[in-house]
Amino acid sequence: MDVNSAVWTVPARAREFGFFVDGQWAEAGDRPMSERKSPAHGVAVTRTVRCTKADIDHAVRVARTAFEDRRWSGLPGGERASVLLKAAAGIRARVEELALLESLESGKPIGQAIGEIEGGANIFEYAAGAARALHGDAFNNLGDNMLGLVTREPIGVVGLITPWNFPFFILSERVPFILAAGCTIVSKPSEVTSATTLLLAEILSDAGLPAGVFNVVTGSGSEIGQALAEHADVDMISFTGSTAVGRSVLLASAGNFKKVGLELGGKNPQVVFADANLDEAADGVVFGICFNAGQCCVGGSRLVVEKSIAAEFEALVAAKMARVRIGDPLDPNTQMGAIVTAAQNATILDYIEAGKREGARLVCGGEAYPSDAGQFVRPTVFADVTREMSIASEEIFGPVLTISTFETFDEAMAIANDTIYGLAASIWTSNLDKATDAFRRIRAGRVWVNTTINNGPELPLGGFKQSGTGREAGIYGVEEYTEVKATHIALGRREPWVS
Ligand code: NDP
Repeated sequence: MDVNSAVWTVPARAREFGFFVDGQWAEAGDRPMSERKSPAHGVAVTRTVRCTKADIDHAVRVARTAFEDRRWSGLPGGERASVLLKAAAGIRARVEELALLESLESGKPIGQAIGEIEGGANIFEYAAGAARALHGDAFNNLGDNMLGLVTREPIGVVGLITPWNFPFFILSERVPFILAAGCTIVSKPSEVTSATTLLLAEILSDAGLPAGVFNVVTGSGSEIGQALAEHADVDMISFTGSTAVGRSVLLASAGNFKKVGLELGGKNPQVVFADANLDEAADGVVFGICFNAGQCCVGGSRLVVEKSIAAEFEALVAAKMARVRIGDPLDPNTQMGAIVTAAQNATILDYIEAGKREGARLVCGGEAYPSDAGQFVRPTVFADVTREMSIASEEIFGPVLTISTFETFDEAMAIANDTIYGLAASIWTSNLDKATDAFRRIRAGRVWVNTTINNGPELPLGGFKQSGTGREAGIYGVEEYTEVKATHIALGRREPWVS
């Protein structure tokens, strides 16, 4: 959809949602409601239900029944694929509605939101193929009296906890793969960005997904998210969010040893060598930190640049930063929108103050961007950053870039890997040998060469080190939600053990 083909305005009234369990909308009843204000406009845009632990229990029971009676897992992959393709068409048919809600709740630019919704549909289309491609293995080399089979089975009921930064896209990087594997789902979106997850439930239902296979329970992470992670009848948790909450999810999962997939934070390096196309690299670096106002787990927040070109490159980055269009997310020209919550905004501004206090040199930005309503931060660059500074090592999750320099290749790799995280990295060079050497040595789950923040459902994503466990997307993304079963089939007469 062309962003200019519609007029985008803040609706006069907040849209109210129920929650979605067993193939139908559930009413709020006497449960409290949570009101979401647009972080860019300061007016209420959605109201969602604050569900209870009892609602989680009910949704898990529903998902368990739907799994055990094989209404979904028992279908041929081709039939599951057909539902996923219809869902993709359903998403495409509602792009305008979904993108507006996504932009209003998260503060992201409307053009970007359209891209993410359409990107989500594209992932559903890919995963439809994966539903048919999933297969096991056979061992026909065990002798004439034995056949060995390795089959993949859906892992069961999956609890899916997703964050606010890419509510629909991150959801789409998981849901179609989990469904392709044959699992059932209880989804808990971030309380501040629940609308598009709820609409996906309706779209899937309209596409023919059997009742009870995809359920959405809304409310607070610390209450119902925690309850889902602890639940003894959930077989796997897929969690995306902060490393701190990821750790608590891992601990909560120990009760029944459920499998846990974690996609957590990052402090991703942008390594720029002197032989790179500097103008293109600077453009990529600015995009990498300003995209989604820096609230992006794979955002490139650490510029590691070769000393000989550092001054020139810093000036290029600063000049481009000054031209980034910040403002109303509903203006199709906006490139960088609002910060999602007042709390996140305060965190970012606190880090900026820490950078100044700790002695880093402020190159540009360093303050809030003035606005009548909502919260915005100017893209900020700190140079002369040393490893002891908090801005050098902690995930800020805002448009704040740090610069450090290197003189040798080994030094560049040491700085790039000097982090507890290992989610993503970018390398900018015109030398293929150097690029290859670098991508082999960088400890991260996703590496880009002469580009940044590219995606697509074919390639897996996930973290090394404290950035998480498991992989999403690609054929790996379906396998992640399966158990492997080994079966020995004896043929012919049995050699008696009891004589
Ligand atoms: P959280 O980790 O708190 O939130 C992520 C998801 O977890 C949300 O759905 C949240 O629900 C839920 N949640 C919160 N507490 C629990 C819990 N105890 N048990 C189970 N689920 C829970 O991230 P924040 O929103 O607080 O963001 C803080 C930081 O996390 C950011 O600054 C950034 O560093 C990082 N982050 C990383 C993301 C990534 O993509 N890797 C995405 C988002 C954040 P609810 O929102 O309703 O509380």
